[in-house]
Amino acid sequence: MTTAEEWNAAFKPRPIHEYLEASVAEFGSRPAADFMGKVWTYAEIGALVDGTAAGLQAMGVGPGVHVGLCLPNTPFYTIFYFAILKIGGTVTNFNPLYVERELAFQARDADVRIMVTMDLKVIYDKVEEVRKDKILDKIIVCPMTFCLPTVKKVLFSLFKRKEIAGIPDDDAHIRFDDLHKAGAHPKPVGIDPDEAIAVLQYTGGTTGVPKGAMLTHTNLSANLEQMRCVFERARRGEERMLCVLPFFHVFAMTVAQNLSIILGAEMVLQPRFELKALLDAIKRKKVTLFPGVPTIYTAINNSPLTANYDLSSINLCLSGGAPLPVEVKESFEKLTGCILVEGYGLTETSPVAAVNPLDKGSRAGSIGRPAPGTSVRFVSIEDRKTEVPKGEKGELLIHGPQVMKGYWKRDDATAEVITGDRYLHTGDVGYQDEDGFIYLVDRIKDLILCSGYNVYPRVIEEAIYQHEAVDETIVIAIPDDYRGQSPKAFIKLKEGRSLTADDMMSFLKDHLSAIEMPREIEFRDQLPKTMVGKLSKKELVEEEAQKRAAA
Ligand code: AMP
Repeated sequence: MTTAEEWNAAFKPRPIHEYLEASVAEFGSRPAADFMGKVWTYAEIGALVDGTAAGLQAMGVGPGVHVGLCLPNTPFYTIFYFAILKIGGTVTNFNPLYVERELAFQARDADVRIMVTMDLKVIYDKVEEVRKDKILDKIIVCPMTFCLPTVKKVLFSLFKRKEIAGIPDDDAHIRFDDLHKAGAHPKPVGIDPDEAIAVLQYTGGTTGVPKGAMLTHTNLSANLEQMRCVFERARRGEERMLCVLPFFHVFAMTVAQNLSIILGAEMVLQPRFELKALLDAIKRKKVTLFPGVPTIYTAINNSPLTANYDLSSINLCLSGGAPLPVEVKESFEKLTGCILVEGYGLTETSPVAAVNPLDKGSRAGSIGRPAPGTSVRFVSIEDRKTEVPKGEKGELLIHGPQVMKGYWKRDDATAEVITGDRYLHTGDVGYQDEDGFIYLVDRIKDLILCSGYNVYPRVIEEAIYQHEAVDETIVIAIPDDYRGQSPKAFIKLKEGRSLTADDMMSFLKDHLSAIEMPREIEFRDQLPKTMVGKLSKKELVEEEAQKRAAA
């Protein structure tokens, strides 16, 4: 097996747009992207990128200029992403579902003056308000009709709204057709991959305040090469990748979009997660690769719709972003005959830091081994410095070429998470076994301090998932006068199932120690999720705090 040092000695970073150029040269006439039935080849995407890059360059975009992308998964995302990078600019991803206040905060913090968006009223109107507040100078507007003639249908399935925005005719608004110069090429720009920030990616990080992680071309190139090694079984030029996770999130940006490009795969673009549309897309395109978050695999496993679909084209799936319950992995593999493995990462690591092998050597319940070229260390969760002996639980620290340069304009926050020898504090607690596999037990901030003991919500969640009536669960800490804190479980049951808290308690008695038993259980029809579809504790923690403050 190659050591981290050997891998790094052989790794040659490249500016990210060069990967697209290599695939345009190799796979020119093969499909690169499918958006609801309309297909663009690699050559077509390459030409659109060049013409767009030339237009952006004429507008003054280049090194040091940050351009916002506020786009759902459509070909426009890929075109602008590579166009901006090719001329040395920096991409900043915005969630199109953000409210105006969030868009404004990030645009200001990231020094974004130009935003690329679409003419969907539901997104465009918010961006326009941010411009009117003089936070943006220019908006580049991409027409939905470029993507599809059946635009109304798409809009409805996207946002349950059909309106196209009217775009004012002035210098502040640039239409894609006016920007893009067909047949043109941008002037070449020298890019130092180690220094140039390719993407400024916002994250709550381990402390919760949104910050821009500076990901250089080298960081992204490293993670892409690391994924190329992991996906060595994939067939170049033959795969079809389901792109349902939003590209504005780092997981999909690297593992769905950039990995597709490097493999010469066809991206099957899904602008948002809707189960029937996703199952239809898998069937229509015979999807082979499917990166996802656990809630998506859970939804497929548990929906009555699934029985109507043949999902056997799926070969390899990589789950990340949140713990993949063992039961979910096993049911999905049985349903499709594919291999579903778990990986792990953070925005700050571009994102993949650990991953299971994509074969029978994967281990359920583990996030896998450190990615190629990556080293790990575990330190005491009390002082966050002292290394713990191998096999003991501690905070996971990561070192590798994919670790960000730092946080944008926040040297203090950077110094808090990156050590002098460039190991990144992840805020996640876990341990490594003799074979190098890492097991996570929880995030430091989610630990429940119960009568002086650390109780791990994840252990309780895994136990609850073993009950066959359970669809999803989240466990959080609630204040306890006697013990300090105690666990509370929120549970969503599978459709048509019923269960009482007492039933669940008697089930859990066989799976948990007394101290781990939830003090409260609450059933809900829905559980909160983050923008990428991970179950989210934050809202429930806030609700509980408010409830208690009001009592
Ligand atoms: P973000 O930067 O928003 O993508 O969040 C990164 C965090 O997601 C990590 O610090 C972990 O807490 C969590 N995470 C990612 N992958 C996994 C995984 N496979 N298992 C458990 N937690 C994960």
